[in-house]
Amino acid sequence: MEASKCLIIGAGPAGYTAAIYASRANLSPILFEGTQPGGQLTITTEVENFPGYPDGVSGPVLMEDLRRQALKFGTDIKSGSVTEVDFTKRPLEVTVNSSEKYQAHTVIIATGASARFLGLPDEQKFMGLGVSACATCDGFFYRGKTVAVVGGGDSACEEALYLSNLAKKVYLIVRKPALRASKVMQQRVLKKENITVLFNCNTLGLFGDEVLEGAKLVENKDTENEQIFDIAIDGFFLAIGHTPNTKVFGSSLELDADGYIVLKGNTSATNIDGVFAAGDVADPHYQQAISAAGMGCRAALDAEAYLMERGL
Ligand code: NDP
Repeated sequence: MEASKCLIIGAGPAGYTAAIYASRANLSPILFEGTQPGGQLTITTEVENFPGYPDGVSGPVLMEDLRRQALKFGTDIKSGSVTEVDFTKRPLEVTVNSSEKYQAHTVIIATGASARFLGLPDEQKFMGLGVSACATCDGFFYRGKTVAVVGGGDSACEEALYLSNLAKKVYLIVRKPALRASKVMQQRVLKKENITVLFNCNTLGLFGDEVLEGAKLVENKDTENEQIFDIAIDGFFLAIGHTPNTKVFGSSLELDADGYIVLKGNTSATNIDGVFAAGDVADPHYQQAISAAGMGCRAALDAEAYLMERGL
């Protein structure tokens, strides 16, 4: 099979935007959608800060719009997960679903990031029985109940607010004395009557017979005011950030200490010629839909320039 000019891995805002640009530049890109077409925005509710939608837009609708736009210009969107890469070869080689091999002159990695867990053994025990990392997916099951959300960032505030419209009561467990979320989100959370913010608290464990019944917390850990107490909860939602999806790229790509792809200077180029990266997988800092989309645009332009310079 002839090598494609551009192969895109990932179907979030970065991947689809790269596809829109690459297809309009006649690179005939192939895009692999992986296990979560649309990426993290498909499990979010209202997106209020994506420019061009003054009345907000639901995450899934926004992603479907981006997908249709990529298809309209001729992107070949395929389902399948990339299971292996060989970036030592020219053209670059990508294996999908452990069997099909694809060759490409440029690869754009836009595999995003996945929700992080605390690492408590109880999280696994109660997974699907009270523990979740997605309020919009599972919140419905907690109507009229009591739940806790862990984290102090925008995600945690968003999840707590979403759940507060379904659940009777929401605890927000924050390990520091302040929220890290944007001011507008903080204000919404602090104003909401059925949200109680537990500052300076960490989770020691979860308990329950068959399903989750409560969490053991510690307040002011390792100080003279340390206090251990239980809260009765039916649901425990994690919103403590994300881990970049870079495992499949093994040792070939330069990653930072947290596993994010390192980009060269003010470009989308990685340490490997012809391999570019965009979106949350290469962005530990901003992690916004619009910044991921912007990075996708840059990666496609960089890939186009790379191909042009080499007459490919
Ligand atoms: P963040 O990294 O911003 O926040 C993670 C939170 O989890 C922090 O409060 C952190 O605490 C806490 N945390 C991390 N590890 C632990 C742990 N082991 N135990 C307890 N708490 C822990 O991640 P988000 O997912 O919230 O946001 C990522 C990015 O996406 C941000 O840039 C955010 O602004 C953006 N975002 C924007 C939204 C919007 O604008 N509508 C919605 C959602 C996300 P600490 O503060 O102590 O480090």
